[in-house]
Parts: sequence; C-alpha cells; structure tokens
Amino acid sequence: MLSNLREIRHDALSGIARASSLQDIEKMRVSYLGRKGKLTEVLKGIGGLEKEERKLVGKSANEIKKELEKAISEKKKKLEGRGVKGKDIDITLPGRTPWVGRRHPITICADEICDIFTRIGYSLVEGPEIETEYYNFEALNIPEYHPARDVHDTFYLEDGRLLRTQTTNVEVRVMERGKPPLKIISWGKCYRRDSPDATHSPVFHQLEGFYVDRNVTFRQLKGTLIYFAKQFFGEDIKTKFVPSYFPFTEPSAELYISCSVCRGKGCRVCKHTGYVEVLGCGMLHPNVFRNVGYDPGEYTGFAFGMGLERLTMLKYKIDDIRLFYENDIRFLNQFGP
Ligand SMILES: [Zn+2]
Repeated sequence: MLSNLREIRHDALSGIARASSLQDIEKMRVSYLGRKGKLTEVLKGIGGLEKEERKLVGKSANEIKKELEKAISEKKKKLEGRGVKGKDIDITLPGRTPWVGRRHPITICADEICDIFTRIGYSLVEGPEIETEYYNFEALNIPEYHPARDVHDTFYLEDGRLLRTQTTNVEVRVMERGKPPLKIISWGKCYRRDSPDATHSPVFHQLEGFYVDRNVTFRQLKGTLIYFAKQFFGEDIKTKFVPSYFPFTEPSAELYISCSVCRGKGCRVCKHTGYVEVLGCGMLHPNVFRNVGYDPGEYTGFAFGMGLERLTMLKYKIDDIRLFYENDIRFLNQFGP
C-alpha cells in the first residue's frame, strides 16, 4: 500500500511539472484529488485496513495530499502569471531586436580619411576647440587687420579666447612641440557665425594635415592629395589643382575632382562645370615656420584642409548639410556600422 502511494506521488508530481496550461493542471487535480481521484480512492480504502497499517498509510496519504495541493496551486500561479488578457504568451517567439548604435556618417568618413593617411605614415593628433587668437590666427600669418579674418566670422568668449574657426590651430601647436620630420593629421569641430542653410552650419568639421621636412616639394603635395582623392572617391575620378589663396600657404591651391554625381557631364552640384572643389592646400608660408622657430631656409612643408561635411555629402550624394545634425534615425540608419 505504501509503495502504491509512493508511485501515485511520483506520477502526480511529474505530471504537474509537465503541465503547460491551466486546463492541464485542472485535469491533474481531478485525476488525483477529485472525488474519484487516485489519492482520494486510497484515503477511502483506509477504513478496511489493520489499525497499525491504517495509521501509517493514513499519515502518508495525508502528507502526499497536502504536497500535491501545494504543487498544484504553485503551478497554477505560475501559469496564470504568464497569461496576458487571458492569453498565453508564446515563449518560443524571438524577442525584440535591440537597437544598436552606429557611427555618424561624418565619423565614418573621418575614420576612412584617417586610415588613408595613416597608411602613408601620418599620425593622428587632437587640438583644443577653445583657442587663443594667436594659435587660431596670428601664428598662421593672419594678423589682426588681415581681411581673411572677415570670412572667419568668429565666436569670441568673454576672456578674449575664441572657438576655433579652423583645425589649422593644431599645426602650430604640434610644430612648437616637435621637430621635423612631422606628418600629422587632425580632425574635429570648428565654429563660425554662419546662419544654418543647406550648405552652412555654425558648427562643422574640418580635417587638416601637414608634412614638414627638408626638401618637401609641391610635387609631393600633389602626389599625396591625388592618392588620397582616388582612395576616397574611387580610382576613376579625375583631379585638377587650381591656384588659390590662403594666408598660411604660398603658393596655395584648391583640389578639384570630377563631379561624382554627374560623372563630369555637368549638374546642379558641380554648377555645370563637371568639377567640384574638395580641399584647400599649399606650401607652408615661411612666416609660419618663423613663428614656431623653424628656419625657412632649412625646412619646407605642405598643408591641406578639408570640410568633412562637404566630403561626406559628395561621397554619399547628400544635398543638405542639416541632415547631419537632425539625428533622424531613418537618415542615420542608412550608413555603415
Ligand atoms: Zn555634376
């Protein structure tokens, strides 16, 4: 009789554990504890047993009854907790995919450009966004009344310092600290008092690079920047250098590439010229070298600077700079990881 009880207990508990719905658990309750349930039948039959056995079996059966009642009510609670508005949740369904962050398209392009230059020996450095007039202008051959200051409509701080208008400030700081040969690139935020429109923003990003050593030539400048343009925009683009003016380089030039939108045929982006300007460059001005204590008779060098928004827009054919700052997830999700 006792072994029969043990068997009932074992079967009942494993049945309760397997039950996967409230209906299952109710069936289990009826078949063991119901009026004609297996355990109820045992309890009913106790009367016909010898006194000693009746005591033992009765005690054991009552203990098992309590144990099963407890197991059934706990399982019921568990199954009820899983239901929402009376429905069971299908736990085999996959969960919601978590949103994964991505790099901003400006960062993607900056990283790519840094890769292109570090492959040919350039090192990446950072410079301060809050700068003195000296590093932002004077050391770069832009004295106080120089007309170039007009195009750099500057945000000044109360203490006389300013938000840098160009990443060129890094050049002077690096040259002051070190001795040639120097091959440096740097990128970051710049600030000018521009009203936001499709091509202007008061905060924007520049990437700057320079190479200083003995006997650095304009040919090396051209070779380096054509290599960069082909790596970044594709081997099939055409390039041309057009004379230009910057206070801290002499001679100065702008690099143009064949328009990636119309492939040189002429369109709105290239103003129907077939070419678009991608960066400014030139041989570093002797005055800049004098300001950092280099002998212009001994060293030469070139520098280049580009607007990262402009390059990113050309690369991905984006026609409005404001898209970069609106943080519309539908826009940002189109770019790589
Ligand atoms: Zn075009």
